[in-house]
Amino acid sequence: MTAHALVIGGGIIGLSTCFEFQDAGFEVTLIDPDPISGATHHAGGMLAPTAEVQYQQQALVPLMKESAQLYPDLIRRVTQYTDLPTGYRTEGTLLIGADRADAQHLTELIDYIKAEELDIEALTTRQARQLEPALSPRITKAAAIDGDHQLDPRLFARALFDAVLARGAQHVRDTVTTVTTIAESATHQAVTLNSGAQFEVDSSDVIILAAGLGAAKITGWFEGEHPLQLRPVYGDVLRVRVPESLQPLTTRVIRGFVEDRPIYVIPRADGTVTIGATSREDQPHPRTSAIHDLLRDAIRVVPGLEETEFLEATCGARPGTPDDLPYLGQVRRSLIVSTGYFRHGILLAALGARTAVQLATGQQTSPAIAPCDPFRHATSTLNV
Ligand SMILES: Cc1cc2nc3c(=O)[nH]c(=O)nc-3n(C[C@H](O)[C@H](O)[C@H](O)COP(=O)(O)OP(=O)(O)OC[C@H]3O[C@@H](n4cnc5c(N)ncnc54)[C@H](O)[C@@H]3O)c2cc1C
Repeated sequence: MTAHALVIGGGIIGLSTCFEFQDAGFEVTLIDPDPISGATHHAGGMLAPTAEVQYQQQALVPLMKESAQLYPDLIRRVTQYTDLPTGYRTEGTLLIGADRADAQHLTELIDYIKAEELDIEALTTRQARQLEPALSPRITKAAAIDGDHQLDPRLFARALFDAVLARGAQHVRDTVTTVTTIAESATHQAVTLNSGAQFEVDSSDVIILAAGLGAAKITGWFEGEHPLQLRPVYGDVLRVRVPESLQPLTTRVIRGFVEDRPIYVIPRADGTVTIGATSREDQPHPRTSAIHDLLRDAIRVVPGLEETEFLEATCGARPGTPDDLPYLGQVRRSLIVSTGYFRHGILLAALGARTAVQLATGQQTSPAIAPCDPFRHATSTLNV
């Protein structure tokens, strides 16, 4: 009998997980009331293990590196099952500084990146402007990261969704409330939905809890306080369209610092540009001052953005954890947790999805996931 994977959550993590389970021969059911409506809908889509390196977060580096290496093959396999575009682009990333203090910051960051054995090439500002003539002549520092790529998360998630449906996945439009062990059989679990419907899962099947921030509301599988300490970290993000006469404004992702504020400018194949992103924990709506700051900083780095058509400002909630690492692990034989991907869920989706299959099928997983134990912040225990 074919084993069954029941995936809770249809953001980038749940959808890529569905795809990998299908590749491993599982029948897949996806439960989500509104797929691609969470963080994935708002994300920039940088696949940037190098430019996104953060100080004091060494445990993230191997996860990011490994997942970036898995991406080309994931894209290749997904596009065998769908004609929808993914927005995947491999032209690379330029890291830039806007003023003298930003140049100093970048010099230190480049040293740190090299110490982490990631590839980065310092450029003169003139070399950077030869590569991307739309960059401001006033930039103070630049470096090239050819291995940092990008995709359009909305497009890629839709392509994944299309691919998993084409391969026979069942989609249930409902919200999961609890995952419980069935009392008379310690090996069987029940997934209960808002509508009252229930799925029974036996020990040869697997449930994957991939509901982003929503995972913190799914109860029943632990005793005591919720083990997943998820919190929303909001990010404002903007989209503009470049007039045809100026296209392409840039071909690489421009990642930089303007008076110490981070900014990115991501060019898409359809002539639009994504500008992001803030990071704040106050309220979930696009904030006027954030929109102002992002536009001002982006225009300072790429002045031609002034000529673009403004399309949208949105605000998404990153599923944050206390140590910025995901919750990724098998909490019982047929229950896997895969959430809390915070700032890097688009990049880490390839590794997260592959790892879930490896856990479910008893294969060796990457040593990089060792610090991601879903119970590492818990005062609670597993409900058996
Ligand atoms: C502004 C911004 C910019 C970002 N930029 C980048 C970037 O450039 N690169 C990068 O790698 N990452 C980036 N991220 C982070 C990335 O978007 C997230 O880490 C990633 O999207 C998380 O994916 P997810 O599938 O876990 O969650 P989500 O995309 O939030 O999806 C969760 C899904 O679960 C469903 N759900 C919730 N509760 C339930 C339930 N009880 N039952 C059933 N379904 C449920 C929801 O409907 C939703 O569809 C960014 C995030 C933001 C907000």
